[in-house]
Amino acid sequence: MNFLADTKTCLACGKTVKGRSDKKFCDDYCRNNYNNQLKADSNNYVRNINNALKKNRRILESLFPAHEEMIKTTKEKLLISGFQFKYITHTYTNKKGNTYFFCYEYGYLPLENDWYLIVKRKED
Ligand SMILES: [Zn+2]
Repeated sequence: MNFLADTKTCLACGKTVKGRSDKKFCDDYCRNNYNNQLKADSNNYVRNINNALKKNRRILESLFPAHEEMIKTTKEKLLISGFQFKYITHTYTNKKGNTYFFCYEYGYLPLENDWYLIVKRKED
């Protein structure tokens, strides 16, 4: 008998799987472990992005003095705070063709020389 030809390893634990050639797991225990891990990975991914978005929002919020509708800040200041430009919730392009990038109700508009205009969405 040639064992090597049919040797398969379990996707969960890496042990050799015996039985039908299409088997991917030792047993249900390994199958469940594997599927739970996949689910956890995708949950982590979603959670990390949600956290990054909330952090971006907090940073923009913290820059705002009370009762101001817009302020200017620099890219450096945002980066030092830990702002991650790749995480936004949506964009808004006004009639002039300027595109604002939003994290929830706070948005920014890139200006010249690494300055940014920060705005807060008005209640509607
Ligand atoms: Zn296994």
